[in-house]
Amino acid sequence: MKRAYLVVDMTNDFIEEDGALTCGRAGQIIVQPILHALELAYEQKELIVFACDAHAVNDPEFALWPAHCVEGTSGAQLVSELHHFYEHYKGEHVRFLPKTKYDAFYDTALEQWLLDEEIREVVICGVCTSICCYATASGAYYRGYRVYIDPNLMADLTETAHDFALQHMQNVLKAQLVEK
Ligand SMILES: [Zn+2]
Repeated sequence: MKRAYLVVDMTNDFIEEDGALTCGRAGQIIVQPILHALELAYEQKELIVFACDAHAVNDPEFALWPAHCVEGTSGAQLVSELHHFYEHYKGEHVRFLPKTKYDAFYDTALEQWLLDEEIREVVICGVCTSICCYATASGAYYRGYRVYIDPNLMADLTETAHDFALQHMQNVLKAQLVEK
């Protein structure tokens, strides 16, 4: 395994029309492209990590955002296409990582997984570009990982936030665009 694909917060609450904190259509249109990218990554035997919010009912984050991705609810589940992918391929190369903060490295097994597999490159995709994707890209950058992003595999609550965060990741975290 050379690279890890970090798929951030592609859950029903962030993607589905009736989700608690939905990105709406911007999030829905990246589902198929992400699935396609993951199928290629799986063929290439890369590590795929679904890093998803899994909050307690009284999570302090809910002072800032409407309650979302409460552990055990359907809102916290991967959106159906990715859920099927996960259920089909889960194992050494396809893993689920519950998180409680924006940054998927914070208080999770992620860094250890990457160390164990001697992975030095991460590809970040999912939602929201300016929140959890950005925070996770920062977490990776601080730890010395090479960060790749694909603008077509990320979405945000607003287009302005999306565009700013994409530029910002390239400018301050040395994130590189995934080559086609
Ligand atoms: Zn959250």
